[in-house]
Amino acid sequence: MSNCLFCKIIAGDIPCNKVYENDHVLAFHDIHPKAPTHVLIIPKLHVATLADCDDPALLGTLMDSVRHVADEVLGLTDGYRVIINVREGGGQEVFHLHAHILGGKKLPF
Ligand code: AMP
Ligand code: ZN
Repeated sequence: MSNCLFCKIIAGDIPCNKVYENDHVLAFHDIHPKAPTHVLIIPKLHVATLADCDDPALLGTLMDSVRHVADEVLGLTDGYRVIINVREGGGQEVFHLHAHILGGKKLPF
């Protein structure tokens, strides 16, 4: 989608600090980290929000990629938190589906 920030990152029009990529997802460091490790993982297909997604295979691939990136790429062996903000009321600011991976310290509730 041409006016979507994360689609522009996928296209390479806006730079990112990439940590992982495959045919289906891209993972990169959040520009304003809220934990020592704060990575965003996004599907390459534009989906605005989790609530708009009617593609179970895409969601399965996204979650499997979250686990792979957290455990095997980032090495968050002590654990981590996965957050998906949904729509404005859920704190979503970028309307391209993304999961936050937060780790590197003991996270408060
Ligand atoms: P959300 O509030 O769930 O929509 O999260 C959007 C996240 O995208 C925020 O944590 C921002 O810090 C992050 N963000 C915004 N622009 C960029 C960018 N150009 N590169 C990396 N992360 C970004
Ligand atoms: Zn997009």
